[in-house]
Amino acid sequence: MTGAPTDVDAVVVGAGFAGLYAHHRLRALGLTISGFEAAADVGGTWWWNRYPGARCDVESMDYCYSFSPELEQEWTWSERYATQPEILRYLNHVADRFDLRRDIRFDTRVTAATWDEASQRWDIATDRGDRVSAQFCIMATGCLSQAKQPEVDGIDTFGGDIFHTGRWPHEGVDFTGRRVGAIGTGSSGIQSIPIIAGQAEHLTVFQRTPNFTMPAKNAPLDPDAVAARKARAREIREAMRSSRAGVIVPMPEHSALAVDDGARQAHYEKAWNTGTLYGMVAAFNDLLVDRDANDTAAEYVRDRIREIVNDPDVAERLSPRNHPFGTKRPCLDTDYYATFNRDDVTLVDVRATPIVAITPTGIRTTADDFELDAIVFATGFDAMTGPLLGPDITGVGGVKLRDKWAAGPRTYLGIATAGFPNFFIVTGPGSPSVLVNMAVAIEHHVDWIAECIAYLRDRGLASIDATLEAEDAWVDHVNQVADLTLFPQANSWYMGANVPGKPRVFMPYIGGFPRYDEVCRGVAADDYRGFELTPATAPEPAPST
Ligand code: FAD
Ligand code: NAP
Repeated sequence: MTGAPTDVDAVVVGAGFAGLYAHHRLRALGLTISGFEAAADVGGTWWWNRYPGARCDVESMDYCYSFSPELEQEWTWSERYATQPEILRYLNHVADRFDLRRDIRFDTRVTAATWDEASQRWDIATDRGDRVSAQFCIMATGCLSQAKQPEVDGIDTFGGDIFHTGRWPHEGVDFTGRRVGAIGTGSSGIQSIPIIAGQAEHLTVFQRTPNFTMPAKNAPLDPDAVAARKARAREIREAMRSSRAGVIVPMPEHSALAVDDGARQAHYEKAWNTGTLYGMVAAFNDLLVDRDANDTAAEYVRDRIREIVNDPDVAERLSPRNHPFGTKRPCLDTDYYATFNRDDVTLVDVRATPIVAITPTGIRTTADDFELDAIVFATGFDAMTGPLLGPDITGVGGVKLRDKWAAGPRTYLGIATAGFPNFFIVTGPGSPSVLVNMAVAIEHHVDWIAECIAYLRDRGLASIDATLEAEDAWVDHVNQVADLTLFPQANSWYMGANVPGKPRVFMPYIGGFPRYDEVCRGVAADDYRGFELTPATAPEPAPST
């Protein structure tokens, strides 16, 4: 499509959890919408990440939409932690049920968005030549959608197959009889390694940073428990929205240092056996703010590793010591540590003997050459800012988002950024986003954006733009809250530390979901305090004769 741009009220970029719900909400307001999605269909994260073992780590019954009580009643999850295919089936079901595909152009990447001051509209361009003019631009582009390759020489020279967990082939991969190397031991590596090990002739895991992971205790869901949950669905959803992490977690009352060793161990054992992410993280009230308290949790996990892994040297190499417990996203696993008891699995510590290059036949470290038939990169994402800085986004006065964010992202509430009017980010940097159940965070943001757009339209306003003062104050607050915690001590993707050259800034808002929700509601109730609202330009009066 070339020539004059098509006019719509809103462009929605992305068709994962966020984009799909944005279509639903904006359509209900009567807006005309153009949607674009780089993938061939809906699903976002769950369309791209098809690696073996991919599943959610927030319980399925919590990790889904709440906006439709009917949907909630008619959909039944089969496992405590649903697999990628099941979550993708769910998102397809949602797309069909609410007819959400009709305005989406798939296999199409937005490459540029330019604010036109004269018309007070966004001019949006894609890699397939589309041009769309829209009053509103909604970036539902995901926090973890831009896959990151490892920074290693020689990738193109490898004679075998290379896969990235975040770009997994749809037809699946059979590793039977193959010598496989896996780089990366974050959540994606930890989920896929036990399954790849079960297939491959030999698996070599190249680990740079050991991670904390806890048993998922995944199981089929009991139909009676599902029925009981459905009967209380609305009440539970309310409770989730007023809980710190968007899932119901008992709020701990005690410091880990206020109880004796026996009581502390017993408490950790109970938390470990919940099979939830938040069980251990929220076992005591000071694990994320006090290093001594944190060390007790870290040591508990290291004890479990020593208990599970037969070879003490391997157990030690698997034991995280470089970051406080919980300050890199912890993982949930099925048999991860036990996988290293297999004779056909080797652990290589690439901090001790770094990877030098990928060669035509495998991986070379400073100590050895490993002959491989296939390599799996479980090396993560250019998180949170990557998908927003990929397209060329230009705001008021020709300012580029890339330049504005050169020293790190700056937003007001994680939803808007000053100088980019009518530009909304779903779960952007500066919002709780990746620190909470994202299904809750996404619905919360899309609801806020839809209500804001309705407000503007009801009053005939052309645009809304965050003020620099409000943005600066919010960025300061986000940083101050982060600095009260241990999070900045970890070289995590939350800090941008996994991408060479990326500014080190703690990107999500860690003040908790209820506090954040209260601020967002307050801003809206106060006629969008901290934003500048611009009326539509009155039409030129007709010349008098
Ligand atoms: P995404 O699902 O990432 O969708 C964004 C879409 O935008 C993508 O499909 C992408 O192709 C598209 N896009 C981006 N840029 C452009 C562009 N320029 N033009 C066109 N299209 C574009 N969160 C949890 O809360 N619980 C979990 O258990 C959980 N498990 C996860 C497991 C994995 C393997 C990963 C990677 C993430 C997980 N997350 C989890 C986080 C997950 O990303 C979110 O829960 C949620 O799926 C994000 O939805 P989204 O729509 O915001 O973004
Ligand atoms: P990740 O957490 O960023 O992990 C990437 C891994 O690759 C790290 O171990 C990293 O080591 C390693 N790595 C990167 N570059 C490397 C290099 N050049 N050489 C050696 N090692 C390298 O990415 P992820 O595992 O894909 O997970 C990202 C996020 O997605 C998670 O934190 C979570 O939020 C979400 N997720 C959730 C689930 C789930 O269970 N539901 C599953 C997958 C993903 P360093 O730590 O040293 O950088």
